[in-house]
Amino acid sequence: MAELDVTAVHKSFGLVRALRGVDLTVRSGTLTAVLGPSGSGKTTLLRCIAGFEPVDAGEIRLDGHQIAVPGRTVPPERRRIAVVPQEGGLFPHLTVRGNVAYGLDRRSRRGGRTEAVLALVGLAGFENRIPHHLSGGQQQRVALARALAPHPPVVLLDEPFSTLDAGLRAEVRQDVRGALRADGATAVLVTHDQAEALSIADEIAVMHDGRIVQSGPPDLVYGAPADPWVAGFVGEAVWLPAEMTGDRADTPLGPVPVVSTGHRPPRTARQVLLRPEQIEVVAPIAAAAVTATVVHRDFQGHDALLTLRLADGTPVLARVFDPASHHHVVGREVGLRVHGAARAFPVPPGTPQ
Ligand code: ADP
Ligand code: MG
Repeated sequence: MAELDVTAVHKSFGLVRALRGVDLTVRSGTLTAVLGPSGSGKTTLLRCIAGFEPVDAGEIRLDGHQIAVPGRTVPPERRRIAVVPQEGGLFPHLTVRGNVAYGLDRRSRRGGRTEAVLALVGLAGFENRIPHHLSGGQQQRVALARALAPHPPVVLLDEPFSTLDAGLRAEVRQDVRGALRADGATAVLVTHDQAEALSIADEIAVMHDGRIVQSGPPDLVYGAPADPWVAGFVGEAVWLPAEMTGDRADTPLGPVPVVSTGHRPPRTARQVLLRPEQIEVVAPIAAAAVTATVVHRDFQGHDALLTLRLADGTPVLARVFDPASHHHVVGREVGLRVHGAARAFPVPPGTPQ
């Protein structure tokens, strides 16, 4: 059991306010992905939780015990927290086995734990190599194995999969997720990759400019983003100008049912959000209300993201699942049909007020 509570934590480096009042709760045995763009404060938050940086204000608790407040920082080695830093940080003079076994007692070493965690990260048979003779991705996986080996109750991972090839990434990601779950570990994983966060996490905490701006299960953060910035950062967003009548919006794509976001009444909305997979591309003469022209096709293998322009110039994105169709070529005129409800926001993103 290990619950982590971060409350109103601030941390500055000189004039740079890296953390500006961070609140975060990670329930025991769950994995939270802290998702944010570069420079939003993710690594700083992880370092404060680990005990590498003192906090300027606020507090951090582990299972209710205070581990960080201004002026008092429980040292990293007394926190029962394992860290996988952004740069692997292996001991260069030790073999892979030596690195992974470093924090293990003799019984675990004899019990084959080293070999087991190396197999988990896909490095069985690499025991006698030295870090210098491994690729960046392999070194990162050794660092992961080293952190997981002693079954730590809390594991902090800083962009641990970013140096892996795309194919390996998905596999190692699920293996690590499985290992953390099997151990009942509480984990915080930092990433700027929204697909990774959506795929691996029980909860996502979206970070922007030193604050957690929304946290919740992945489907909630994707489906009900708290504000336009979150909507645009977590997935592709289609913004449409809207006139509200009751719980319906009149948009350039026709009338669309609306669910409101937050506490604001939808009738104050001037802009609604759709996701590209809610927009279906049909033949232009079909019973679709609106026609549009394909202006760009981003082919992604299993699907494609089309950029379309409506007659009035409004740009729209549509995800199509038969990307090779002759309808989906640049210049073609197609029909559009909307599925499901839109989300209403009072102010368009990026609009000066
Ligand atoms: P992220 O991991 O999300 O990319 P960081 O936590 O590394 O973000 O950085 C947040 C902000 O704090 C950035 O503006 C960064 O330049 C600054 N920062 C981080 N660490 C230090 C440090 N040791 N000294 C000065 N500025 C720092
Ligand atoms: Mg970072």
